[in-house]
Amino acid sequence: MDYKAAFKSAVARVRDEGRYRVFADLHRHCGEFPKARWTNADGIASDVVVWCSNDYLGQGQNPDVIAAMHEAIDAAGSGSGGTRNISGTTSYHVTLERELSDLHGKPASLLFTSGYVANEAALSTLTKILPGLIIFSDALNHASMIAGIRNGGGERHIFRHNDLAHLEQLLAAAPPQAPKLIAFESVYSMDGDIADLAGTIALAKAYGALTYLDEVHAVGLYGARGAGVAERDGVMGEIDIIEGTLGKAFGVMGGYISADEDLIDAVRLHAAGFIFTTSLPPALAAGAAASIRYLKTHPELRTRHQERAASLKARFKAAGLPVMPSVSHIVPVLVGDPVHCKLISDLLLADHGVYVQPINYPTVPRGTERLRFTPTPFHTDEMMDRLVEAMNTLWTRCNVKRHGVAA
Ligand SMILES: *Cc1c(COP(=O)(O)O)cnc(C)c1O
Repeated sequence: MDYKAAFKSAVARVRDEGRYRVFADLHRHCGEFPKARWTNADGIASDVVVWCSNDYLGQGQNPDVIAAMHEAIDAAGSGSGGTRNISGTTSYHVTLERELSDLHGKPASLLFTSGYVANEAALSTLTKILPGLIIFSDALNHASMIAGIRNGGGERHIFRHNDLAHLEQLLAAAPPQAPKLIAFESVYSMDGDIADLAGTIALAKAYGALTYLDEVHAVGLYGARGAGVAERDGVMGEIDIIEGTLGKAFGVMGGYISADEDLIDAVRLHAAGFIFTTSLPPALAAGAAASIRYLKTHPELRTRHQERAASLKARFKAAGLPVMPSVSHIVPVLVGDPVHCKLISDLLLADHGVYVQPINYPTVPRGTERLRFTPTPFHTDEMMDRLVEAMNTLWTRCNVKRHGVAA
């Protein structure tokens, strides 16, 4: 076997489709969010405005969060030193899980090293704990939920994205006595649409199913205290399992589920992805807890965040740029092919100091390649004006459709 040739051809396939990925080497400076210093392939650095960060509220540079992390390092050192079961549970982890339970109004919570791990571990383990469990999964669910559902090895049915009629059809066709779980997201991060939580809950009740809601792109951002769309919609108590990340709006790292104490205890005792891995460093737990606490009492950041997103959508529309329909803080602009998508992104970065990553297949379906902007409370009018001007120039120069058919 020519191993080297095999790896080269695996790369070439991606490159030929215009989907080869290059990392942008960024240096963030505290206090200058959302600006960063970008180093290009020739080693030359320049200032850019970051338009595609999932640090949606700039919490990664919030002084309260940073102070909590410094304090924890000084007090407790760097790593946790073990798995949760073997010397790796510190008071920081315990405090953070309490903070999460309070946020979501649930009796218990369980931390994982990331949101990906939380979804993979929780969903695969629930399938093992509940023999015969049938999972109903939204067609656009995140890769981590798909991995968990597959690894659980149980029966699964995919319902068309946000299509409750299709979900009901599938639920009705399943044996009435079988245990069931509906897995879905609140905010879908590539289109920026939001699921009908109340409608899904009603179906779950009618067919005796559990609800598993990924609020990764909503925690910190929606609801009076930042618990997510379920809080905003007044249905938090009726979702059985809420899953979230500490790495996006909370600006740190880690993932979790919040639910009933018996469910959490069962997952804690059975999930390999929880048991057999070193727990989060105390400083991360401390920073995440500080961030959650901060956002519980700063709704004005959420208000400003929504206003910035609405403002950017309006500016793109006014300039005749094909902004895709989105009812959330996510602002996707349709390009429609991977080569132009990457080219425009490269030119924005090299010539205009605008950093936005191209979103290509397999993250989104072919033909719906797009640029996905995530304005934060710290993106100014002036930054937006410059962005829209640059986009306008490149749209004309690259001859990209202005009113393409949205996904
Ligand atoms: C990013 C993401 C995750 C994974 O969260 P991480 O903490 O980044 O691992 C899970 N679900 C969705 C919908 C996501 O977009």
